[in-house]
Amino acid sequence: MVQRFRIYKCAALMGIRKLRVGKIEDENDMVLFPEYYRQMARDPLALEKCRSCKLLPLCAGGCAAKAYFKNGSYYTGECMMTEDYLKSWVMDYVKYYHNLDALNK
Ligand code: SF4
Repeated sequence: MVQRFRIYKCAALMGIRKLRVGKIEDENDMVLFPEYYRQMARDPLALEKCRSCKLLPLCAGGCAAKAYFKNGSYYTGECMMTEDYLKSWVMDYVKYYHNLDALNK
């Protein structure tokens, strides 16, 4: 019996067959689909608004899945980042790693 596993690049895309990026047919046989290359080809530097944005190194052009669902393409921007949101996100990240050190003692 051959087990088949579907591979998705993002949890938000899971279950949508046309958006799976590959499959595993057995332990050593992974096959990537053209969709893998479509999703991996997203370049935030190609997005005009993102190219000049100072948040680009942290944001990387926003969520590709949201861009896809909203605009029908991964190669569009989906800006949901504000400086306040980014600051709170960074602070949460710092707090998380500070707590991680405490938990590992
Ligand atoms: S999605 Fe918005 S915040 Fe992120 S890099 Fe692009 S313009 Fe900047």
